[in-house]
Amino acid sequence: MKAAVLHEVNQPLVIEDISVKKPGAHEVLIKTAIAGLCHSDLHFIEGLYPHPLPAVLGHESAGIVEQAGSEVTYVQPGDHVVTCLSVFCGTCDNCTTGRPNLCLNTDVKMPPGKSTRHQWDKAPQLHTFLNLSSFAEQMLVHENAIVKIRKDMPLDRAALIGCGVITGFGAAVNTAKVAAGETVAVIGCGGVGMAAVNGAYVAGAGRIIAVDTNPVKLQLATKLGATDLVNPNDGDPVEQVMNLTDGGVHHAIECLGLKLTAEQSFQMLAVGGTATIVGMVPFGEKIELHGFAFLRERKIQGSSMGSNRFRVDMPRLVELYLQGRLHLDDWISNRIKLDEINEGFKAMKEGKVIRSVIDFGIV
Ligand SMILES: [Zn+2]
Ligand SMILES: [Zn+2]
Repeated sequence: MKAAVLHEVNQPLVIEDISVKKPGAHEVLIKTAIAGLCHSDLHFIEGLYPHPLPAVLGHESAGIVEQAGSEVTYVQPGDHVVTCLSVFCGTCDNCTTGRPNLCLNTDVKMPPGKSTRHQWDKAPQLHTFLNLSSFAEQMLVHENAIVKIRKDMPLDRAALIGCGVITGFGAAVNTAKVAAGETVAVIGCGGVGMAAVNGAYVAGAGRIIAVDTNPVKLQLATKLGATDLVNPNDGDPVEQVMNLTDGGVHHAIECLGLKLTAEQSFQMLAVGGTATIVGMVPFGEKIELHGFAFLRERKIQGSSMGSNRFRVDMPRLVELYLQGRLHLDDWISNRIKLDEINEGFKAMKEGKVIRSVIDFGIV
């Protein structure tokens, strides 16, 4: 089968002929239908986060089950599934205390370099990425890396739920636990930020302030439920938010992964407010906060994959989409073939698209 392989950082991906092993007892072989190009893939391509190479990247996908391992009872061939990198064991401390997205079991949630599900007739060993490797015609995954979805859910929009949507929506609903009437600022309104705006809206936030330098993205945020728009090109965003809210927001959700905006998210909090950092701040970078602000119970926290319990959350998101309450139709700006993947990442770097998706042409 064909797969896009990253050989070296800052080099184009190369389409290679590779294979996966036969499914083990708890593994599932999936025919990939759609794979989204996510900013996190780009972080690894650019070497901002380390990963052993060569590797098959990609981690936001949906597909159809082709074959299930001997012990798998959850799915059968023909089922439609969404993948999630938050593969869980179900028995470790974090899984059994309701935080499966933080699973500690490295036999199931394998760290970079451990998984050898992929193979080719070359050296060195080809690495699996985030237990998924979606930029390939087939995926071999642990059965706890997938969730079954309704067959009337379009697979292209379903794929987005697998990373970008759950990350943003879950940050608002699961991690920040936005309550009805609260004021929320979302910094960065790309795909993840839009999902955070949408999540805050579904949770019943009173005011939702969208912060972005791109007027097109701000307009889109209005459609998803933003009540106020702040463009940092018009002046200090912290000051603008303070003026709009008379003392700050209950929640600031940072979706860019920059030192500056992470610090701003904390600075724009009301007393007792919470900043939630969703964006991937480059490895090794530190953020600085005024210690004084903690005296009034301001908090800052990370959010990993929207603190998801994806087997529960994703079917709910599918329902919300089918009811018209989760907006996904504006996400996909570009549909490409696997061999156009480098152009897809170029468009992402230029900020031209919300999401490009690879359509493998199976549905
Ligand atoms: Zn992602
Ligand atoms: Zn676990």
